[in-house]
Amino acid sequence: MPTTLPKTQTLGYKNQQSVATRNTIAETQLSGALLKLSLEFPYLTAAFWAMHRIPTEEVETMAVDSRWRLYYNPDQVAYHWSVPETSAVLYHEVCHLLRDHAGRAPAEVNGDEHSAFLWNLAADAEINDDLIAEGQPLPGNPVLPATIECPDKLTAEEYYLHLQKTHCKAGDEPKTSETGVGEGNCGSCAHGHTEAFEKTANAAGIKGLPDGEAILIHRTVAQEIHQQMKKQGRGSIPGGWERWADKILKPPTVNWRQELAASVRRALAETSGRTNYRYSKPGRRQASLPDFVVPGLVQPVAKVAVAIDTSGSMREEDLTQAVSETAGILKAQGLCDGVTVFTVDASVHACKRVFDPRQIRPLLKGGGGTDMGVALRASESLRPIPDIMVVITDGYTPWPESPPSGVDRVIILITSSNGNHACPPTPSWARTVRMTPDQG
Ligand SMILES: [Zn+2]
Repeated sequence: MPTTLPKTQTLGYKNQQSVATRNTIAETQLSGALLKLSLEFPYLTAAFWAMHRIPTEEVETMAVDSRWRLYYNPDQVAYHWSVPETSAVLYHEVCHLLRDHAGRAPAEVNGDEHSAFLWNLAADAEINDDLIAEGQPLPGNPVLPATIECPDKLTAEEYYLHLQKTHCKAGDEPKTSETGVGEGNCGSCAHGHTEAFEKTANAAGIKGLPDGEAILIHRTVAQEIHQQMKKQGRGSIPGGWERWADKILKPPTVNWRQELAASVRRALAETSGRTNYRYSKPGRRQASLPDFVVPGLVQPVAKVAVAIDTSGSMREEDLTQAVSETAGILKAQGLCDGVTVFTVDASVHACKRVFDPRQIRPLLKGGGGTDMGVALRASESLRPIPDIMVVITDGYTPWPESPPSGVDRVIILITSSNGNHACPPTPSWARTVRMTPDQG
């Protein structure tokens, strides 16, 4: 934390009270501060209490390493900060951990003290304008964007770029305040660069968080934030935490076009690769056995049906995506075999075998409620029954409990316009591919 203790105040206390008493007071103060934070930010509780507390005079105020070990100066905590100030500093350190400043640090920070210092300042600026806006009583003169001559609300990466330009040489560190506030020394939690006071990864009794545990804490906190948003609405917690939780819980992005193409290709290959003996094609031995009809080995072509959701919730961009992807599937399938296209809201409005992409758009009729189960049931009555069924929908639909009988594979393609946040879960018996706007 970028706040220093005025040297004059650190002297002489040992004559007044024992080290043990001082440490007890500091621990009590820290516990009170953590309790206060847990009441104020219940969704961050898992992070607050995951830190292993280590009193040490090697730090002037407080720092945290990348294994969530909190080093604090007991003098500072016991005698110079109030409980609300201690809370604000703890909150600052937890922000470094949850915002993954160590992981986001540029490569040159590793092993370079000057870069680590600048990055730490940048990360402090990113945190502190938010904390001040939330009314946190950060002690001393915290590093703010204005301290480094930048506007509020930028990212640490943006502040770092600015600092790199203005303070490019070692020894040319910014003067953050006349009282020494803004040391740029919050520990490796801020920059990943191991500080001299930090314990080794395997230090006896204080190993800190094992590998992978931090990710679990991040996810627990994000889930708690979503729970609170569900109960009390999106405005119930600071917007920065909402966006952070959305980002942590967002499913990993995949290239949906490639995934869809691969799913269709795999399904086509599996279905087409199944060879059958059929009497309709004479076998090669037919000539030698004129009295018998020898079944021939044929490779059937997979039959594909596409159901397009045309319910009222499908926006124009969803329908455009649906037409475009159906055209892509038609192309993958081979135009001469065609694709059966359904358009469905709560009932089937059109069902036609199409051979040309231009035939798709005129089929888009509907605009009512949604039930993609209707499309899946309708596929069972097609003759022949499709081997592969692709359902293109915005996802706001109920799904049947079991797949349509006779259909080998169902692929659900979710359009991107709703951000894929709140639609009901898709069934496990189908392969679900989610479009993303940036890739679409
Ligand atoms: Zn910091």
